[in-house]
Amino acid sequence: MATDYFGVLGVSRDASDSDIKRAYRRLARDLHPDVNGDPGAKERFQEVTRAYEALTDPDKRRIVDLGGDPFDPGSGGGASGFGGAGFGGLGDIMDAFFGGAATRGPRSRTRAGRDALIPVELELDETVFGTTKDITVDTAVLCTVCTGAGTAPGTHPTTCTTCSGRGEVQSVQRGFLGQVVSSRVCPTCSGTGQVIPEPCRECGGDGRVRARRTLQVKVPPGVEDGMRIRLTGQGEVGPGGGPAGDLYVEIHERPHEVFTRDGEDLHCRVTLPMTSAALGTTLSLKTLDGEEELDIRPGTQSGSVLTLRAHGAPRLRSTGRGNLVVHVEVSTPTRLDAEQEKLLRELAALRGEDQADSHREAQGGLFSRVRDAFNGR
Ligand SMILES: [Zn+2]
Ligand SMILES: [Zn+2]
Repeated sequence: MATDYFGVLGVSRDASDSDIKRAYRRLARDLHPDVNGDPGAKERFQEVTRAYEALTDPDKRRIVDLGGDPFDPGSGGGASGFGGAGFGGLGDIMDAFFGGAATRGPRSRTRAGRDALIPVELELDETVFGTTKDITVDTAVLCTVCTGAGTAPGTHPTTCTTCSGRGEVQSVQRGFLGQVVSSRVCPTCSGTGQVIPEPCRECGGDGRVRARRTLQVKVPPGVEDGMRIRLTGQGEVGPGGGPAGDLYVEIHERPHEVFTRDGEDLHCRVTLPMTSAALGTTLSLKTLDGEEELDIRPGTQSGSVLTLRAHGAPRLRSTGRGNLVVHVEVSTPTRLDAEQEKLLRELAALRGEDQADSHREAQGGLFSRVRDAFNGR
């Protein structure tokens, strides 16, 4: 199947040369390997450059218009490869980058569309492992009745009579220093030099209509709350069927009931009975990757930290994963029955912890005495 070079640049099929150039310039600036470090950017840059070549080189364009692919030898193109002699010269690229000379005269009715932003709510496991989401967007799309021209079927724009097609009107004012000639944008045609006598009924002459559509968004693993995924050319179509802006999908991560996220690391809290902390035990912890055995060593203190390596979120811009950090809390029993209290007292006596004085000695003097003084003991 032939590549949709219009789609690659995000322009409509009847886009003018300057629209194509503008769309390419915008994409090329964003994707140029010198400014964009994303792994896929280089490939995208080559893709848009190829599309630009296919649509602006007259020979290649003819093949595209006939439904073929000028870069596919089997499609009757016989074209040179990327960067070959057929590439219209370096001047074209430089021109596209730096915009060439500012053009005077009437401005195009076709203008680039605006970007759109849409939030998407994701669960923690979706941001960590990546997912594919269907999102519904409500934006301006190309009017299919007039394909962006804005004219009713069978009619054409006519030259604006106010400005005779120049797009600007001049006025002469007699001032202190003599005559001053000033020009301003023609109010009748808004500077386009043309008027539409019979606007398309579907879009009222704007060349676009609002429509609701569903898009599939691929969310890469490791995205974080607030990040935006750009869908090139999925924003609003511009007035007069101008190239569409981009759609930004903003990630909103729902809070998780167990894990909190800190970049690529996840944190959670487990509470242990005093006896397990003293004797050691094995805990079963439900991580995002499934059940994991957690080895609690005898004598574990409250506030100690256990790290499960590579159980966090993947690093978005490199390889590997962050860690899952488990914060341990030891809970002191509160309601003791008679037998439990007896056992604890026996234990305390065995450990020599049953008298305040001996405890103080065991702790080694000055610091604990100062602390006790502060605590009012
Ligand atoms: Zn229309
Ligand atoms: Zn005018």
